[in-house]
Amino acid sequence: VETADGEDPHSAPDRKLELTERKVRLGFASALVCLALVSFISYLSTARLSASSGWVEHTQEVLQRLESLMEAATDAESAQRGYVITGDANYLEPFRESAQAIDLQAGQVRRLTADNPLQQQRLSTVVTLVTERLDYLRTVIGLRRDQGLEAARNEILTGNGNGFHDQLRRQIDEMKATESSLLSERERSAQRSSALALAIIIVGGLLALLIVGAALLAIRRDFAGRMRAERALRDMNDQLELRVQERAAQLSQLAAIIESSDDAILSTDLTGHITSWNRGAQRLFGYTTDEALGQSKSMLTPPERADEEFAILERIARGESTDHFETVRLAKDGRKIDVSVSISPVRDRQGVLVGASKISRDISDRKLAEGKLQAQLARLSLLQQITRAIGERQDMRSIFQVVVRTLEEHLPLDFCCICTYDPADNVLIVISVGVKSQALAMELALTQQSRVEIDADGLAHSVHGRLVYEPDISRVASPFPQRLGKGGLRSMVAAPLLVESKIFGVVIAARTQANSFSSGECEFLKQASEHVALAAHQAQLYGALQQAYDDLRRTQKAVMQQERLMALGQMASGIAHDINNAISPVSLYTESLLEDTDLSERARGQLETIRRAIDDVAQTVSRMREFYRQREPQLEMAALDLNRLVQQVVDLTRARWSDMAQRRGIVIEMRTELAPDLPTVMGADNEIREALTNLIFNAIDAMPNGGPLIVRTSSAHEQGSYSHGSPTRDFARVEIVDHGVGMDEDTRRRCLEPFFTTKGERGTGLGLAMVYGTMQRHGADIEIESELGKGTTMRLVFPAQTAPAVAALPASAPGEVPPQRILIVDDDPLVLKSLRDALEADGHDLTTADGGQAGIDAFVAARSRGDPFPVVITDLGMPYVDGRKVSSAVKTLAPSTIVLLLTGWGQRLMADGDIPAHVDRVLGKPPKLRELREALAGCLTNRASAA
Ligand code: ADP
Ligand code: MG
Repeated sequence: VETADGEDPHSAPDRKLELTERKVRLGFASALVCLALVSFISYLSTARLSASSGWVEHTQEVLQRLESLMEAATDAESAQRGYVITGDANYLEPFRESAQAIDLQAGQVRRLTADNPLQQQRLSTVVTLVTERLDYLRTVIGLRRDQGLEAARNEILTGNGNGFHDQLRRQIDEMKATESSLLSERERSAQRSSALALAIIIVGGLLALLIVGAALLAIRRDFAGRMRAERALRDMNDQLELRVQERAAQLSQLAAIIESSDDAILSTDLTGHITSWNRGAQRLFGYTTDEALGQSKSMLTPPERADEEFAILERIARGESTDHFETVRLAKDGRKIDVSVSISPVRDRQGVLVGASKISRDISDRKLAEGKLQAQLARLSLLQQITRAIGERQDMRSIFQVVVRTLEEHLPLDFCCICTYDPADNVLIVISVGVKSQALAMELALTQQSRVEIDADGLAHSVHGRLVYEPDISRVASPFPQRLGKGGLRSMVAAPLLVESKIFGVVIAARTQANSFSSGECEFLKQASEHVALAAHQAQLYGALQQAYDDLRRTQKAVMQQERLMALGQMASGIAHDINNAISPVSLYTESLLEDTDLSERARGQLETIRRAIDDVAQTVSRMREFYRQREPQLEMAALDLNRLVQQVVDLTRARWSDMAQRRGIVIEMRTELAPDLPTVMGADNEIREALTNLIFNAIDAMPNGGPLIVRTSSAHEQGSYSHGSPTRDFARVEIVDHGVGMDEDTRRRCLEPFFTTKGERGTGLGLAMVYGTMQRHGADIEIESELGKGTTMRLVFPAQTAPAVAALPASAPGEVPPQRILIVDDDPLVLKSLRDALEADGHDLTTADGGQAGIDAFVAARSRGDPFPVVITDLGMPYVDGRKVSSAVKTLAPSTIVLLLTGWGQRLMADGDIPAHVDRVLGKPPKLRELREALAGCLTNRASAA
């Protein structure tokens, strides 16, 4: 088994073992060498010892032979002498024997000292000496035998027998000495070498012992190491076995996993032929194991992906693995399957590449889900697009249009329209049709504004708030789907437009394919419809809000106008008050004077003129005052028939539009167009009459060359507002239409202002201001339509109303007034004086007080005097204490006192019933004598009848 790094786990101990073995082997070898050396050296020294001992023997032999030689020589001498002396032949025998012994010994010595040339040389000398001696002896012997004893003796006596022995002895001794010294030298060297051998033997032996010991130690250690290694090896073996077992278990598990895996797991050889095939592969691709094995893997690859297979084979050949990639595979039945594949190379035990394993996982479900998600995302963005598009629009129609277009284009649809629902008739009305759907809409008669009856099952559900999906129109019998079917449409969705659980429309989407709407799309259409419904609802609200805002702006403008008019009115009222006060004496005196019968005709005429002028002034002032007055609760309202009023006014103004115009040579065609069933309005007839008169005069003024003047009445009613039912309101309208000069924009805007006139000297600018005031008081509207050069239409719009008519106060009967004590209170001395003069002329007894407080004081003083004033005439507007206070003080003190109130603020007070408490009558300034008298008379008769 190879480990990951490829190292042999047992190699280290092995190597150690090897090392030890080698060491031991080396140790024993060296020990052996040592021993061999020791034995060799012992052998050598033994050899040398034996050689030394040989040499000792040799030397002793040499010494002995030399001695023997010496003895033989001596014996030979002795034998010769014996013979010589005796002549006994018996002596000759020992002689011969000695001579032979000498030869023998000399030969032996020669042999023994063959290696020593010096000794050989000496020996030669010895031999020569001996030979020569022997020869001499023989000569002596011969002489004896032949010549006898004498001769022999002579010879012996002349001869030099003694010298020979000394020479021989010397030579022999020298030889002996040499041999002895040689011997001792050899003994010394033998001793030395034996000592050396001994030392070597001892050292070598010790060394060998040491080495062997070390080797033994190494062996011992090695043995322990070997034991350990063996143990480790055993352990490792056990582990290995365990691992092998585990591995085997794993392998079998792996095999089981592979077999039971849902994924297709297969392997191929390098040429791409299938070598293994699990059950997952069988399931996924449909081939059985038998069918698959040996086949080319390319049978699983769709033809269009052949390149991919090629690339995979290339990668396998390079031994590269390929992580998950997604592709398409072909099943046996030709089905295409989305798979995720990973490929890894397969190697045999030697690591040689033999093929590849491939795991393919079926990801069709995931792909499907991904597709769905993608579609969902696309729809979401479409929804957002729609929402954004409709968010930019405020009117329902354009919202519908953009929705229809977007749906048609992006969902996409073959037909799309949006209808509104009319619950009253239970029909749908087509409001918006898609651009692409137009042709089809024409064909199906579903163009804009066409009505669709709601059939029983299909559309009925949708107008009940449910989404209707017809997957196959051809199977539905109801008329609307059938109608769509005629246009080639096969599937349809109708999504309700719901706001606050009220249906106000339906979105209809259709396609030419049956079953073509997924549930996601249906849901999307439903959601889109909700958005559309909300947006449309908001558009409606926006419209209503806009309307309200416009109304508010108009009202604001009207209020501002009113404020301005009021300010002007207050100013005018102040002016009127002053003018009335100022002309009061003129009026009174003129009237008094005119009562004078002694007047000349001329004076009377002039006075009359003065009175008319004063009247005109008073009239103008009173008209000026009219426009500012607020509607007062006391205003006497009665149910009025505007038709009748119009008729009266037309009659009253006849002089202006008929006679005077004709006098100027122009013709004004007065036409009245009166609505027969005009509702009555609540109002003050005189005021409305005056207003209408003013409008007619203006119309006449606007037509200097004559023309038609139409006075028209009509009724109108206003629908309650769109969303929430406010009641309908009826109106009665009067229009005065002229075809005159008309007004430019600036004039039209300002014409209601008091004193605004374009008529220069002739105009007062108060006519329309007064009309405006009257309209305000009646809660009515004035509408002005005018175009320069074309004419003007003035329209008065009165709210229709009914209320019981109130009877007018009966006019007091005029009559003679008995003289009275009268207290006049006014802060204007001229008025005081003129009144006093005028009333004194009537026989009354007058007291004047120039202010409110003074008046009250005078009244109290008179009363305490027991002479009270039965009548008090007081001005209304006075500083500090005004007419109301005066009258209340008077009435509190003496309730029966008649109090007349004079006011420069307008005669209308009385007519309006705005008579302050404690006041019997209100008279306008300038006071008219006639009116004064009538008032006095009236009050007196009232008091008399009350009493
Ligand atoms: P006046 O008649 O005294 O001028 P009004 O208040 O009646 O005052 O009218 C104010 C102005 O409005 C007129 O001067 C005239 O310019 C304009 N006007 C009123 N009615 C008409 C009309 N029917 N056609 C054209 N202009 C008109
Ligand atoms: Mg006018």
